[in-house]
Amino acid sequence: MRRKKLGFTMLVLLTMLALVAAGCGAKEQGGGPAPNSANTAGKTLDEIKKRGKLVVGVKYDTKLFGLKDPGTGVVEGFDIDIAKALAKKVLGDENKLDLKEVTSKTRIPMLKNGDIDMIIATMTITEERKQEVDFSDVYFKAGQSLLVKKGSPIKSIADIKKGMKVLTAKGSTSAQNIREKAPDATVLEFENYQEAFTALKAGQGDALTTDNAILYGMTKQDPNYQVTEGTFTDEPYGIAIRKGDTEFVTYVNDFLKAMKSSGEYDKLYEKWIGEKPAK
Ligand code: GLU
Repeated sequence: MRRKKLGFTMLVLLTMLALVAAGCGAKEQGGGPAPNSANTAGKTLDEIKKRGKLVVGVKYDTKLFGLKDPGTGVVEGFDIDIAKALAKKVLGDENKLDLKEVTSKTRIPMLKNGDIDMIIATMTITEERKQEVDFSDVYFKAGQSLLVKKGSPIKSIADIKKGMKVLTAKGSTSAQNIREKAPDATVLEFENYQEAFTALKAGQGDALTTDNAILYGMTKQDPNYQVTEGTFTDEPYGIAIRKGDTEFVTYVNDFLKAMKSSGEYDKLYEKWIGEKPAK
C-alpha cells in the first residue's frame, strides 16, 4: 500500500518535471532565453540588454518589407532594416537580432505571450489594436488598393461588383476595410499574402487587396499584375510594443526621430521604395 502511494507520488512529480522542461524548451526555440512575458511588461529594454539579442516579429512573405529568400534563408526589406538599426542602437551591433516570422493573424498573440519584443511588420496603427498593444509613432504611410491582372476591367474599388471574389490575408485591416468599402464582394481570406497571391494567379479571385506598398512588391514578383490607381484607406504603420511599456515606446520613438534627422531613414526608404518619402 505504502509502496503504491510512493509510486504514485513519484509519477506526479515526474510528470510535473516533464511539463516544466517542455515549457522551457518551447520558449528557448530559436536560441536564447525568451523575451519577457506580459506580466513583466515595462522591462523590455532591460530584458533585451540582459539577453544580448533583440527579438523582432517580421513578415517573411512580403517583398520590400520582409521577405525570406528560400534559397539563402536571408530575410530582407524595409522593416528588416529598421529592426537592424534598432539592434545597433540598443546593443551596438545590428547582428544581435533574432527575426521571427509573424503573419497578420499571429503577430499580436505572439507579442502578448512574450515570443517577441516588438512587431515591425507592415502593421497599421488602429484604435482597435490600441486596446491590445502600444504603438510607436508612424514610420511608414501606406493606403489600401487593389492588385489585378493587367487588362482587367477593374480600375478601382468602384468596379468591384456583386459576386466578384477579392482575396486578402486573415487578421489584416485589409480584410475589414474591403467588407466595408465593397460590401457586395465575396472576400476570401488566406493565412498570408503569398498564399493570396498564388490563389490570384491560379484564377481563384478577381483582385487581391491590401496596402499599396505591399502590392507594388507583388508587381515586382510578377509583372503581369498591376496596382489600380489611388487608395481607399489610410494605413499608417507603427512598431507595436507590449501594452503598458511606455518606457520602451519612448525609446523607440526617440530612435525613429534620430533616424529621420540623421538621414538614415530617407536612405532606407529610397533603397526599398525607390523614391524619397513625401514630406
Ligand atoms: N497594414 C495592414 C494591416 O496592418 C495590412 C498589411 C498587413 O496585414 O500586415 O493589417
